[in-house]
Amino acid sequence: MKFLPIFLKVQSYSCLIIGGGHVAARKAELVMKAGGRVEVCAPEMDARFQHLAQQYEGLLTLTTMTVEADQLSAILEQRQLVVAATDNDELNAQIAGVCQQHSILCNVVDDGEAGSFIFPAIIDRDPVLAAVSSSGQAPVLTRLLRGRIEASVPAAFGLLGRLATRYRARVKQELPNISRRRAFWEKVLTGAVAELVFSGEQTQAETLLERQLQAAKADSREIGEVYLVGAGPGDPDLLTFKALRLMQQADIVFYDALVSQPILDLVKRDAELIHVGKRRSNHTLPQHDINRLLIEHALQGRRVLRLKGGDPFIFGRGGEEIEGLMEHQIPFQVVPGITAASGCASYSGIPLTHRDYSQSVRFITGHLKDGTLNLPWQEFVHANQTLVFYMGLNGLHIICQQLITHGRDAETPIALISKGTTPEQKVITGTLATMPAQLEQQIVHAPTLIIIGEVVRLRSRLGWDSMPDTE
Ligand code: SAH
Repeated sequence: MKFLPIFLKVQSYSCLIIGGGHVAARKAELVMKAGGRVEVCAPEMDARFQHLAQQYEGLLTLTTMTVEADQLSAILEQRQLVVAATDNDELNAQIAGVCQQHSILCNVVDDGEAGSFIFPAIIDRDPVLAAVSSSGQAPVLTRLLRGRIEASVPAAFGLLGRLATRYRARVKQELPNISRRRAFWEKVLTGAVAELVFSGEQTQAETLLERQLQAAKADSREIGEVYLVGAGPGDPDLLTFKALRLMQQADIVFYDALVSQPILDLVKRDAELIHVGKRRSNHTLPQHDINRLLIEHALQGRRVLRLKGGDPFIFGRGGEEIEGLMEHQIPFQVVPGITAASGCASYSGIPLTHRDYSQSVRFITGHLKDGTLNLPWQEFVHANQTLVFYMGLNGLHIICQQLITHGRDAETPIALISKGTTPEQKVITGTLATMPAQLEQQIVHAPTLIIIGEVVRLRSRLGWDSMPDTE
């Protein structure tokens, strides 16, 4: 380890920056953001300094001067913190040399080796900060790592930090035992309280924290929580950050048949995985049993993840599942997912709306009841609207025939997307008149989505139909 990472309280410092370019401005801003004063010496100042002077009124002093090597000892005397940011490498090295003689902390921009400290990349969730550095060796790697941390730490993490700060003394007093206190904080910071904070429900978060504090004091068992999470249409890259986070902290996972294996692979390793998933005519578990299981496990204090294909609130029966949770006052949250319509449309090159061809889009269930489809067909026949049928494969011939009967042009294009967004995605295009016969010629694998409307033609205009993974 070449550098010791420390966090410096700069409020009582005045930082001298020699150089007035945009890099100098960035460093000045960082120091002032942390409350430090900054003095900049340079012959010319980047325009950014004017804004900074306004933004951090009273913290910034700009001195227009050309710093020469022979003035350095005089200028640097009595300094504590210096940044050498001139475009003259030799001068920067001389600044570093003088600082070293006087034990002054010095950073040389773009040359970590030359000075005595470096500015790390920062992930700012004030009061929580993470700093990343490659010891000045590989800035690209630093940026990559920073990006990963940024993506995995919720934006509201700082709010959680502030909540913990506010309750710290109280919790210490109420839970004097250190291991119980640690267990309490772990639960608060990774569980339902944290999730409420991330969702912007500050008051509810505090109420729950109070409840959990009382429970921890009385040593009684706590209620768990349920996450109703949309897993998207298949490609794991389409998961949301939030979905991934909850997948990695759940104790037990109930998942549907639609949830793909690469997505299940991302669930925390020691979580219990239970398949409750329906495929048409092959219901593994009736809905009320699923509802009951979610409640039972949450009441046992577990973090229960209900993982659903696409979006939980689009033909996902999410509404039914949360009703039971509400009755039992079980904390829950719903995480949206990319619905099959969005995923399949993007991955097959069919924009669902288009200024010239379609001003609206409808998501319709094509699920057969008693072998028929009872739908308001007359509403679907206007041109300039895109129809998306979920669960429509078995009723496809009825859909095509009813639309034609009610007056939609038989030449209206239609696309059938099978296993959309997965490596096995297949797209079949035709018209309302031709599609039923086309389907008789081939085997199509579920799940499939049907898109009907002029927008389907754009697929060939956009050159999508020549892509190798579709036909
Ligand atoms: N909640 C889900 C939909 C559940 S209904 C969502 O928002 O996507 C199940 C139907 O979704 C399937 O019958 C099929 O029509 C559609 N579907 C889901 N994933 C799909 C995929 N990868 N490719 C094509 N259709 C899909």
